[in-house]
Amino acid sequence: MKQHYEVVVIGGGIIGCSIAYYLAKEKVDVALFEKGQIGLMTTSAAAGMLGAHSESNGEDTIFSFARSSQQAYLRLKDELYQLSGIDIGYKEGGILKLVFSDTDKHQLTPLLKQPTAEWLDKEEVKKREPLIAPNILGAAYIKDDVSVIPDQTCESFAKSARALGASIMESNGVYQVEKKDGNYLVRTMHGDVEANYVVFATGVYGNGLFRQIGLDEELIPIKGESLIVHSEQHVLEYTLFHESCYIVPRNNGKLVIGATMIKKDWSDTVSLEGIKFLIEKAKAMIPSAIEWKIDHVQAGLRPGTFDGNPFIGRHPEEERILIACGHYRNGILLAPATGEMIRDFVVGKDINNGWMQTFRVDRRQSIVV
Ligand code: FAD
Repeated sequence: MKQHYEVVVIGGGIIGCSIAYYLAKEKVDVALFEKGQIGLMTTSAAAGMLGAHSESNGEDTIFSFARSSQQAYLRLKDELYQLSGIDIGYKEGGILKLVFSDTDKHQLTPLLKQPTAEWLDKEEVKKREPLIAPNILGAAYIKDDVSVIPDQTCESFAKSARALGASIMESNGVYQVEKKDGNYLVRTMHGDVEANYVVFATGVYGNGLFRQIGLDEELIPIKGESLIVHSEQHVLEYTLFHESCYIVPRNNGKLVIGATMIKKDWSDTVSLEGIKFLIEKAKAMIPSAIEWKIDHVQAGLRPGTFDGNPFIGRHPEEERILIACGHYRNGILLAPATGEMIRDFVVGKDINNGWMQTFRVDRRQSIVV
């Protein structure tokens, strides 16, 4: 381990690994410290939808950020494979946002105004997905809302960053960050290093370090349970989405049924109630889902913030401390755009002002009540 780096990234989930990748690509001397294993925490529990449309109504700033990130994956899938030899599991096909009632259809009105979303009637949905529930009324189809396999993508970012010169250190947690001679002293379990910039990409696990550096914002866990299943036959072509639940067919033959939303639960256990809920949701979309075989169950903690948007930007008082936490339901989708934005803070490139304001760490203070 060297004594000094230009940038230290704390946290080796998909956000930290993407940041390390984009910095290394710019030839910045970067080290990433992960207290456990790369991608093993929230990132490994994600379904992997790049749901720019399915997770927003298409009207806000986050949509333009999400779209830019989604489009970055089109380049990344080959770029990362060439550098790392790891396939990120990019699966085309897109999402069907299912409609079973007038209320469902009404909720899709803003989305269906987007040129990238298309209305499919009942017959068309049945033609595309023959196993769909018979009471389907139609669906919004979004071809661009594809998916990746999160742990493979994270690993691929990390390995590619390393190939470009980044130091990626596992089993080495950071327990303190303090100022030293105009730089930062980063204290890790295996020794101290100095850095010009420190990036916090600690997911939901950063509250202790946040307090240490004088940030009073808090990351809130929203636990999500899901099932990884398979079927002997090919059962699904598209991701199905209804009322925040989904079935994602992966390009490795597995399907992900997700996910519950349990606020302020720090445990990573899966309850029978959660499993029952997911089975009911899957059956409501595909009645024959009841025959699928369970490979495993999993849970992860979505990193939530007070307004549901991530914190991406500078510490209010320390220009060279950067925060990239709180990506809630969309960290896989938003990883490339977050990596690019943090890179731009470091190398001094222009950043979209709307994105900067929306994701500012101290935005709560500008809310007038
Ligand atoms: P993490 O993956 O948790 O990484 C943070 C890392 O920081 C951890 O590895 C941790 O060990 C490390 N760390 C913390 N403190 C320290 C320290 N002091 N020193 C060193 N290391 C430290 N998003 C999507 O875009 N699409 C989806 O389909 C999707 N589905 C989801 C389904 C479920 C059930 C869940 C739970 C989440 C889903 N998400 C999805 C959300 C997504 O998983 C998260 O937003 C994303 O993984 C957050 O990544 P992260 O890197 O911020 O956090």
